[in-house]
Amino acid sequence: MRRKIVAGNWKMNGSADLAKQLVGYVRAEAGTLDNGVEVVIIPPALYVRDVLDQSGDVLGVGVQNVSQWASGAYTGETAADMAKDLGCGFALVGHSERREYFGESDDVVAAKVERVLASGLTAVVCVGETLEQREAGQAKAVVAAQVKQGLARVEAGQWSDIVVAYEPVWAIGTGKTATAEDAQSMHAAIRKVLAEMGAPSEDISLLYGGSVKADNAAALFAEPDIDGGLIGGASLVAEDFVSICRSMPAGTKG
Ligand code: PEP
Repeated sequence: MRRKIVAGNWKMNGSADLAKQLVGYVRAEAGTLDNGVEVVIIPPALYVRDVLDQSGDVLGVGVQNVSQWASGAYTGETAADMAKDLGCGFALVGHSERREYFGESDDVVAAKVERVLASGLTAVVCVGETLEQREAGQAKAVVAAQVKQGLARVEAGQWSDIVVAYEPVWAIGTGKTATAEDAQSMHAAIRKVLAEMGAPSEDISLLYGGSVKADNAAALFAEPDIDGGLIGGASLVAEDFVSICRSMPAGTKG
């Protein structure tokens, strides 16, 4: 049985006030959900404390990035252990914006995954192809390589703390979404790669991300290998985010 997760990535948006108002509302609504979905908020690191204060035991909370190092003289960095210490349960790793703007390679992603797992957090590892790569027919090969390299340091026994988020780069923040069929096809391919790596692929949650909105979430979540969503823009609008969470069908996945 796989975890069903809807996670809101605020990116570099929000405020202490938003943390209070939006998270308070989402917590109240999430408390009424009966579809078994885990609702997670991933705010900027400076607002994690504010979000935790509002989350009760209803919402999960995560960070958008961690350092590849455990601790030490790395000014400006945040250690995975610190996120855990604060009360987080999740850390995003390898979001395409980090790969593109901060030069994160698959090796760096692998090092960060290792740190996240060592700290006891769940790693939400992001993968996805660019439009150029898709148009060149390379989408599945690119994503397979990202999965293999990014998860290269995961040891047997640690897979229960791995979630993979498939986010085609061309769909992030653009209003373009992969069709449910295309997303399902990629998720099935990712599960196959995980199986080839010796992972318990049927138990690993695979999230889709890329312009998921209240009006397309249900079709995506209905697919057998789509276990939830990583939501950017729509997670900043409380009603939309809750509506996406409600779009998850009841019953088990996997
Ligand atoms: C994201 O930030 O991971 C994301 C998928 O953004 P959006 O939903 O805005 O496309």
